[in-house]
Amino acid sequence: MNDSKLWQADKRHWMHPWTHFDSFQEEGSLILSRARGNRLWDSSSKSYFDAVGGLWCTNIGLGREEMAETIAEQVRQLAYANPFVDMANEPAITLAAKLAKLAPGDINRVFFSCGGSTAVDTAFRLVHFYQNCRGKRDKKHIIARRGGYHGSTYAAMSITGKSGDKIPEFDYISDTIHHLSCPNFYRAPQGMDEQQFCDFLVEEFQQKVDELGADKIAAFFAEPILGSGGVIVPPADYNRRIWELCRANDILYVADEVVTAFGRVGHWFASEDMFGVQPDIITCAKGLTSGYLPLGATLFSDRIYEVISTGDSDRYFASGYTYSGHPVACAAALKNIEIIERENLLQRVVEVGAYFEERLQTLRDLPLVGDVRGKRFMMCVENVRNKATREVFPDSLNIGKWISDRAEERGLIVRPIVHLNVMSPPLTMDHEEVDFVVEKLGQAIEQTH
Ligand code: PLP
Repeated sequence: MNDSKLWQADKRHWMHPWTHFDSFQEEGSLILSRARGNRLWDSSSKSYFDAVGGLWCTNIGLGREEMAETIAEQVRQLAYANPFVDMANEPAITLAAKLAKLAPGDINRVFFSCGGSTAVDTAFRLVHFYQNCRGKRDKKHIIARRGGYHGSTYAAMSITGKSGDKIPEFDYISDTIHHLSCPNFYRAPQGMDEQQFCDFLVEEFQQKVDELGADKIAAFFAEPILGSGGVIVPPADYNRRIWELCRANDILYVADEVVTAFGRVGHWFASEDMFGVQPDIITCAKGLTSGYLPLGATLFSDRIYEVISTGDSDRYFASGYTYSGHPVACAAALKNIEIIERENLLQRVVEVGAYFEERLQTLRDLPLVGDVRGKRFMMCVENVRNKATREVFPDSLNIGKWISDRAEERGLIVRPIVHLNVMSPPLTMDHEEVDFVVEKLGQAIEQTH
């Protein structure tokens, strides 16, 4: 099919995720046809540097021959295996053991699903199941944050705190899910320094615990660094202090590492290595397979496993998917992890990430740029109408999209989120590519008045 036929068929038949019906009808999608490493090509052979890494996921870059071979070989060998209790397959067993080794502390148990949303959904059900098994049936409330994104299933979207994503046409679980302030220092109440802002957030959490009662709160769900809520690195010590409050109040700490795991910020998992937090549950997906195949995983502690697996012999965790522990996806994940290890990509992210942060900070001089923030290979530029007051552009102007379109003309893909431009490049990005990203994004912003 030629491009115009593809565009017509796209609009006629494929309802994409998060479709805004008005703009979707107006614009033709960028139809991608090929990828190699950090580069993408569209159907007219124009090439782009993919500074978004697909959707925070193509950590090792695309088009790797050994990934293709591993996947093809596993398809030949065993393309599918029933994952229910009396059957198993080698790639899933080996991957579960590998994840247990990489995960912090006593997180040694793995439940496989199909992506990030189902990993979060599983965590939600696991949290309730665990509290019920302990006889704590009233411990059902969940604390999360405004600005947090946790996925698109019913439970995951209920935990999500991004107001723009929670349109009123849907109903969400709202009586037992509570959203506290977003830990975004750039938007902190005026006059507070970072330490005061951190104290304010911790105090707010404590007040919520006092208000609901610790015996009613099952878990806290949080991304270590908020991703699609605007790449928000919380104030120093915030994650650790909230985790300590959770411990002190018998509240499970669920770290949603769907974006931050597998090297994005230079660690297998950011919770412990970057923030000194030992979660009870970690959800992950995306970089687990670098996007080669869909896979999610909910990792949890031996302590939780012991509670849910002992006692009533009729009890069982009634949750699972046809594709839990899919052998081909698990084989792809194992090869992906092997490549990250062999090419020392975590260390590379630490080194090149420091340069990326430093170079992006130069964009602050541009009249539109209010904030440049993030960590290593997870970065964001916030565009504002007024730098002094931090006033944002009206959403209707869709300034982030306007800028990303200008970047795209220059061969650079950056992700627009309302007035933000977000970047999460493959971990293989080098210094020259950093320079390219900063130059082209800077030009795209400069072109915007
Ligand atoms: N959790 C976080 C932190 C995410 O960023 C996402 C997706 O972007 C999800 C969960 C949902 O993952 P998926 O889209 O694979 O279902």
